[in-house]
Amino acid sequence: MTGIEFKVQPHGAPVSKAQRQELISNPGFGKVFTDHMVMIRYSDDLGWHDAAILPRGPLSIDPACAVLHYAQEIFEGLKAYRLPDGGIGFFRPDANARRFQKSAERLAMPQLPEDIFLASIRELVSIDRDWMPTIEGGSLYLRPFMFASETFLGVKPASEYLYLVIASPVGAYFKGGAPAVSLWISDDYSRAGPGGTGAAKCGGNYAASLLPQSEAIAQGCDQVVFLDAAEHRYVEELGGMNVFFIFEDGSMTTPELGTILPGITRDSIMTLARDQGVAVREEKYAIDQWKADAESGRLREAFACGTAAVVTPIGTVRGTTTNFTIGNGGPGIVTEKLRSQLTAIQRGLAPDPHGWLHRLD
Ligand SMILES: *Cc1c(COP(=O)(O)O)cnc(C)c1O
Repeated sequence: MTGIEFKVQPHGAPVSKAQRQELISNPGFGKVFTDHMVMIRYSDDLGWHDAAILPRGPLSIDPACAVLHYAQEIFEGLKAYRLPDGGIGFFRPDANARRFQKSAERLAMPQLPEDIFLASIRELVSIDRDWMPTIEGGSLYLRPFMFASETFLGVKPASEYLYLVIASPVGAYFKGGAPAVSLWISDDYSRAGPGGTGAAKCGGNYAASLLPQSEAIAQGCDQVVFLDAAEHRYVEELGGMNVFFIFEDGSMTTPELGTILPGITRDSIMTLARDQGVAVREEKYAIDQWKADAESGRLREAFACGTAAVVTPIGTVRGTTTNFTIGNGGPGIVTEKLRSQLTAIQRGLAPDPHGWLHRLD
């Protein structure tokens, strides 16, 4: 039990069963939403209060609402999965709760207690459990977020915030094995700099990544890959996914923490690989080295990872002055093995030695 009670106000006119079945049979990503949402208020005076499960619907905010001007906003992303026995599991929600607190700290926002975060996602999935997709590879994507809701144009941390959770049924990001993607190296832009907000999951980081991502698409690539802001030399991550490199000796490298987002998928993959005796290094990896290793064959595979797409093989890398292919340009064997091992744990189909799966009931 948590110290907070959720007042439940069920939706008066929820989506009909027939329409819901239709929607969850092919939900895509982030387009379909469930009937309810969580809302909790915070004020400096009252702390966390007015926790409620409400019909999902528009918010009414003042044009001077602080978030609209200074972008004091953070979010999380995690999935609930249907388990083989018909139950529902969350994958490492405690890690999301802790990261949400860290992001809040960096954005000068109040920290939501871990138990309230966990209770909030449980409450929402309980009431909207019929929205869990039944299709192969489907899941319920949960989006907790918080923003400065004070009506005030002064530049300071707001004194009022809203925390919400919405849920979206999603299909498999890729049906079958994930195809390899192409990356565009951004020459002109950085995602985050030393001392900045790169390690916080905040909307502002995404706003800054959209132009370089559009540039990648215009260049015919799938995703942008960012290099470090100081030397423009070391690989950091994609707009919303961490990266891994797999070498011929079986070892793996992933960029060290600091200016990158500490992905829970990244951490889970490092743990799975180390469990199997794989040497995993967290260290700087230069773009020139990446090219040299890909060309010499020392680098066998590379992949990107995050909650939404889980694991995505990287096939080719291009930039204004460079162009190289990793392996044969297609999905690699070790990448595919890690992807299937991780998804099996997430779906309750494999032993869970680290206790990553939290059951709803
Ligand atoms: C959320 C996110 C990731 C992936 O984190 P997961 O916890 O694995 O989903 C990676 N990079 C950025 C910038 C992100 O926002």
